[in-house]
Amino acid sequence: MRSIRRLGIFTSGGDAPGMNACVRAVTRTAIAHDLGVWGIRRGYEGLIEGDFVKMDGRSVSNIVQTGGTILKSARSPRFFGEEGRQQAACHVEEAGLDALVAIGGDGTFAGGALFHDEHDVPIIGCPGTIDNDLYGTDETIGYDSALNTAIENIDRIRDTADAHDRLFLVEVMGRDAGFIALNSGIGGGAELVLIPETVTNMNEIKERIHSLMTAQTRSSIVVVAEGDELGGAEKLKRELQSDGSFDEIDLRVCILGHTQRGGAPTARDRVLASRLGAAAVDALIDGHDSVMVGLVNGELKLTGLRGVGRRKKSIDYELLKLTQVLS
Ligand code: ATP
Repeated sequence: MRSIRRLGIFTSGGDAPGMNACVRAVTRTAIAHDLGVWGIRRGYEGLIEGDFVKMDGRSVSNIVQTGGTILKSARSPRFFGEEGRQQAACHVEEAGLDALVAIGGDGTFAGGALFHDEHDVPIIGCPGTIDNDLYGTDETIGYDSALNTAIENIDRIRDTADAHDRLFLVEVMGRDAGFIALNSGIGGGAELVLIPETVTNMNEIKERIHSLMTAQTRSSIVVVAEGDELGGAEKLKRELQSDGSFDEIDLRVCILGHTQRGGAPTARDRVLASRLGAAAVDALIDGHDSVMVGLVNGELKLTGLRGVGRRKKSIDYELLKLTQVLS
């Protein structure tokens, strides 16, 4: 088993609340094991440029409660190329890093697995993405915070929708997965939820909205995942209005967008991030490599980095039925 003396840590892909708590946990757990820690700024971009910063226990003071990431994050087109990865490998060697901890989503792990195969650098992944679309963990770091932000905003929209008898199409994040849409729809009492995992039948949707809007309650909220196959809330609005049948309905769109990424992580995300960050370091010390640490049914679980992207995590279809029953 190769011994680990120095590790590098970075955040990559879309930022997610709780990434800082994870950076803190990795740094402090590593220091507790007498390992040196280097922070790599801006994900794979920083790896390619050798943008490293030495971390100590105090570098991560007062960050457990903050959103964003102190190491910054980026998407790195150069890392897709062999040359970029070669440059990254040179910097890893120069800095004497024996292993990497990557906090990010499936793209980050695909890049990490490739880097490991080409340059034999041990790498452990921590699932950090608001989308919750990673196989191998029940929840990803950032998801619970984003979900709560979405629900808070839906509550506010509900007040104004009700005051003016309006129909609101609220677009939430989720390019390929409907976890935020489905759960914020239930938590926010939405009348309809549209997600990428199911095919939307326009005629059925129109009928359903009409029946809702002509009943006692004249305001409604439809939660739409940005990655719904219809193309999101703006496109849905155009479709609904295309045949004149919605002329009498005051229809508004609200895109929650990046508000869902910002803000303090929830307690749940802070604890998850702290557990997974510590587990990542333990896994490295135990000789594991090219795996993601996750939490499944409350138990720590390791999943091969490549397996995370290849297998799709399913939504709970019972929850989808529940939205229909409860609306
Ligand atoms: P999120 O779920 O928040 O989007 P992510 O980790 O999936 O996070 P991506 O933009 O897909 O975000 O990936 C982050 C970075 O990982 C990319 O910008 C790229 O540098 C690297 N990467 C992704 N896929 C690959 C790949 N197949 N080969 C090499 N590098 C990759």
